[in-house]
Amino acid sequence: MAAEYECVYFIDFDGTITTGDLSLELATYYGGSAYREIEKRYLRREIPIREWLSQAVRLLPPDLDLLSSKSLKWAAIRPGFKEFLDFARQENSLVIVASDGFGFYIEPILKEYGVLEKIDYVYRNEIMTGRNNELKVLTPHAHAICPVCGNCKAAHVVAVKETGKPVIYVGDGSNDRFGASWSDRICARGKLAEVCKEFNLTYSLWSDFYDIINIAKPDFKDCAETALCLPRGKGIKEGFDNS
Ligand SMILES: [Mg+2]
Repeated sequence: MAAEYECVYFIDFDGTITTGDLSLELATYYGGSAYREIEKRYLRREIPIREWLSQAVRLLPPDLDLLSSKSLKWAAIRPGFKEFLDFARQENSLVIVASDGFGFYIEPILKEYGVLEKIDYVYRNEIMTGRNNELKVLTPHAHAICPVCGNCKAAHVVAVKETGKPVIYVGDGSNDRFGASWSDRICARGKLAEVCKEFNLTYSLWSDFYDIINIAKPDFKDCAETALCLPRGKGIKEGFDNS
């Protein structure tokens, strides 16, 4: 990564760039009460997000064109996102999207809104149809041994930090806490704000991307002591509720 960049923004997708969570909306729409049981177990931290993904995807019809067109119909981009991307480009910062959602809707939605080419990189999961026409989750960016996340956002944040550049993390979900805990400034809303309080992580509350444009740049921070996982080690921390 080129050293001349000002900073790197890591942006979650569902519920952050989009106002709703499309994986959750698809699972709710097609899964009904079976999905609600999975959601309850996830919210009680009985299953990690990777398990949530594989269980929720089994409830979806194995028709990626249908799922993609539903997602495109339902998606709405949060105010200020386009302006934020222009701002980041002007100030010479990188924008990386890191999501535990899926490629069948993320890139098409970004393209539909005319912003895909303004994003420097997209890390996300994939989904494919198996031999028996069942849907399978592929997690090309998962940690080698940690069972918690589908996409190890913490590893992506740490890789940027190793270049010496400060990271601003923008998210809304409880699972964002792992990547966020390695960043130099956390912009949190929704469940991420709640878990930041729970784990004593300092954060800035945000509601739209105009807030992110106005956020002060952070100093580079050593997060090794306070971070919630070990992406360069075995992932989950010993004796720590990470699911
Ligand atoms: Mg989210």
